[in-house]
Amino acid sequence: MLALLNWSRLIVVNSDKCFDGWASGDGNSEGRCCCNCKNQVKIVGHPWNKNSAYKSRICDTIGWGCAAQPGTIVFFEKKHGMCEEHDWAVESINNE
Ligand SMILES: [Zn+2]
Repeated sequence: MLALLNWSRLIVVNSDKCFDGWASGDGNSEGRCCCNCKNQVKIVGHPWNKNSAYKSRICDTIGWGCAAQPGTIVFFEKKHGMCEEHDWAVESINNE
């Protein structure tokens, strides 16, 4: 974790390195991965779905999505990966 003070807000950058989606030996010197990207969302199933791959409780993770493109979620089976849209996940805490 890396904490930055930006005016009245504390910004915490999720800088936990991961090399599961893009290996260090392949040029990933900073540990960028889908799992530490702000565009990644968890996808859960729903009991009303007919397909067994998507039929589950809503607390069960069935995959991972990339929301880098507005209005679109790209579905992934794996949590770890890499693309040119990577941007570090940021958590902002308002101290006002
Ligand atoms: Zn990862």
